[in-house]
Amino acid sequence: MVYKFGVVGYFMSDDCVFCKIVNGDIPAEVFLANDDFIVILDANPKVEGHLLVIPKRHYDNFLDFPLEVYEKFLVTVKDAVEKLGVKDFNLILNNGKDAGQVVGHLHLHILPRKEGDGFEIGA
Ligand code: AMP
Repeated sequence: MVYKFGVVGYFMSDDCVFCKIVNGDIPAEVFLANDDFIVILDANPKVEGHLLVIPKRHYDNFLDFPLEVYEKFLVTVKDAVEKLGVKDFNLILNNGKDAGQVVGHLHLHILPRKEGDGFEIGA
């Protein structure tokens, strides 16, 4: 894996789809953005309004994620939830392959929930 600085000045990984989105190399529906995070619509939504909160800087997973960004991370999650205008939602972070992490760039799923939406955690 090769790391370099992207055009936005963030440490990025060459073969990472989320780094490419952050860098503007591949398109995504950006729902919200700030200095450190982007929130995009998931390309394969499990429920309506399925979002991904993605740090602009590349971290492989939660264990690499530094303490200093925790607060900004949670503030970004809250901003996104408030913008969605929902009260019922799941926050899911798949950490590691066995836990279902497919994209090796830390991200948190926000899944707005409605009665009868058919979504089951782990399914
Ligand atoms: P995970 O299984 O936690 O790694 O989830 C990765 C998520 O990224 C999945 O829900 C995918 O649908 C989503 N995803 C992958 N590629 C893209 C993309 N180019 N744009 C938006 N979402 C994506």
